[in-house]
Amino acid sequence: MSDLPLSLPDITDAEIEAVVEVLRSGRLSIGPKQELFEDVLAGRVGRRHGIAVSSGTAGLHLVLKSLGIGPGDEVVTTPFSFVASSNAILMCGAKPVFADIDPTSLNLTAESAEKAITDNTKAILGVEVFGNPRHMDRLEQLANAHEIPLIEDSCEGLGGVYNNRKVGSFGRASVFGFYPNKQITTGEGGMIVTDDDRLASLCRSMRNQGRPDPKGQRREPMGGGQTTGSWLQHERLGYNYRLSEIAAAIGLAQLDRLEAILEKRRDVACEYIMRLKELEDIILPTVPPGHETTMSWFVFVIRLAADYGRQERDRIIAGLRRHDVGASNYFPCIHLQPFYREQFGYKQGDFPVAESISDRTIALPFFNRMDPTQIELVTHTLKVMIQREQLLRR
Ligand SMILES: *Cc1c(COP(=O)(O)O)cnc(C)c1O
Repeated sequence: MSDLPLSLPDITDAEIEAVVEVLRSGRLSIGPKQELFEDVLAGRVGRRHGIAVSSGTAGLHLVLKSLGIGPGDEVVTTPFSFVASSNAILMCGAKPVFADIDPTSLNLTAESAEKAITDNTKAILGVEVFGNPRHMDRLEQLANAHEIPLIEDSCEGLGGVYNNRKVGSFGRASVFGFYPNKQITTGEGGMIVTDDDRLASLCRSMRNQGRPDPKGQRREPMGGGQTTGSWLQHERLGYNYRLSEIAAAIGLAQLDRLEAILEKRRDVACEYIMRLKELEDIILPTVPPGHETTMSWFVFVIRLAADYGRQERDRIIAGLRRHDVGASNYFPCIHLQPFYREQFGYKQGDFPVAESISDRTIALPFFNRMDPTQIELVTHTLKVMIQREQLLRR
């Protein structure tokens, strides 16, 4: 029987040829592919700047850093996300302050975030969990009302549209991620997009060891009329968060095919929904309502009905895996990760909605080229596993 992975990158000859071209060019970092990749993606979401970085996490770190967020500051965010969204706050020495999620969209809501705001809150970090863009506009309004920036973690949402606005266009800056399980991949990589010139300039400098931003203000020549010394001139603490030309070339080829990729993902999701909509005891992912909204499918995550618990969910996942069907528990709550508990004293019961959802989710195999036979195999195996749980209950 063939193994069905949770996800699989979609690489064609176009990506392979793009990589070969870069390898032959002799220019492997800081070159034209990176700049073009930045311009194309920023243009797509309607932002002035794109800053390519080595990962989504690096992008979030740089955005928070360039907003001056540091020790003593709080950032309001969701406990139901991939751990990196909140880790980026920790990397700045600031405190992630969680607020509970909406049980339908699985995202942070403005109502919940507002209650978590204190005098020390310096930003709100919203996440389009599983690609669902719901509430991002309300989070933006809330941030504006409190005169603090919203950071949009769009690492799961590329290609989505919410109330006629593209994912990646909300708040002060947005960050995309290109790990192989995302809608498009560069192997490892990410991109910050923003309209804020100063933030963009700081991010460009910090991703490159704190060197002066080449697109920044023209500087006076250094003493002695030296104009070419910037490679060993470091204006601030920086990082090496650059994206290689090889990765950028893959990204460009993937972006070229983005529409087709999103369509294939939508087809797979529709096929799943069609086959699962009659199945008892499961809740299907919610597509945000409205004609002006497009869901960008990142993963296909179902959840068990409210009377199921973590043990039953874990047994179903184990059963799926035994039958070579990839499955996972996206996401364990961030506040319950051991080092969050230790550092901040978070405990079970702090965010009951997130915890209850997190105990019942099952991510199913989901990738562009999944065919109906493979989907049928997954849904059939899932049905068998759920029936087994139903029998155990009697
Ligand atoms: C993938 C992801 C990230 C980080 O991306 P990396 O490129 O793996 O560093 C951040 N936030 C969310 C919500 C993600 O899903």
